[in-house]
Amino acid sequence: MRPMPPTPPPGSVTRFAPSPTGFLHLGHAHSALFAARLAEQAGGRFLLRIEDIDATRCRPEFTTAICEDLAWLGLAWEEPVRVQSARMAHYGATLDSLRGRGLLYPCFCTRGDIAAAIAAAHGPAAIYPGTCRNLPAAEADARIAAGRPYALRLDVTRALAETGPLHFTDLIHGPRRCVPEAQGDVVLARKDIPASYHLCVTQDDAEQGVTLVTRGEDLLEATDIHRLLQALMGWPEPLYAHHGLITDEAGKRLAKRDQAPTLRALRASGMSPAEVRARAGFP
Ligand code: GLU
Repeated sequence: MRPMPPTPPPGSVTRFAPSPTGFLHLGHAHSALFAARLAEQAGGRFLLRIEDIDATRCRPEFTTAICEDLAWLGLAWEEPVRVQSARMAHYGATLDSLRGRGLLYPCFCTRGDIAAAIAAAHGPAAIYPGTCRNLPAAEADARIAAGRPYALRLDVTRALAETGPLHFTDLIHGPRRCVPEAQGDVVLARKDIPASYHLCVTQDDAEQGVTLVTRGEDLLEATDIHRLLQALMGWPEPLYAHHGLITDEAGKRLAKRDQAPTLRALRASGMSPAEVRARAGFP
């Protein structure tokens, strides 16, 4: 079993926040058990939140299955479970506020536009090159009036000018300086979904009083964006614990897309909850 981080502050509130795009596998079990264990050690609270804003990929039957699988594993969480798709108006209000402060801009670029602009500028591979950042307001308004689809991007340079340098503390990784500018002007509302992961996760953690955000270390960089949103919106700064990822026998990270064995499949093969908990690192 991997070492647990130091005991968190008394009364810490943690959560597990899966997206119902498939059945849970051992990596999810590790993440959920990790969050629940830290809350228990702290004499705090453990929440479950369903992150289902992407209607193109999320399905209600996976939400039902997530709750069943977690209960089978022996986990108990506080009711009611927050479901993000029911809260779009709340995220919209935050977007309006940031937009009113001149911190967001509409981006009309297609994936193809962005790829071409990056290639032409020889810029860093995955970063939006800022094509729409300086579009005159009249031009942007005209395109919106003409029905052109658009995303909303955060003007990270402007945002950082408001907040100054940012940091966060991670129980496992120690103190970290945030470098949100390394990710460019991230999308806070997609063309097809009126909010983004970054916005919804940060707003809900703040509104639900989550004081210890636990998740896989693949999301360490995302936290740089979340700290920026917290500072802009005056939301409290939680403590973090980004845990290592569970890997398969070959050392490869488990992922839904690679058909990692689901908890249901392990259960159907006759494994007990205790055996699955042990395989997920929590004997
Ligand atoms: N919903 C996200 C996911 O399933 C995780 C959210 C988080 O813990 O920040 O990957």
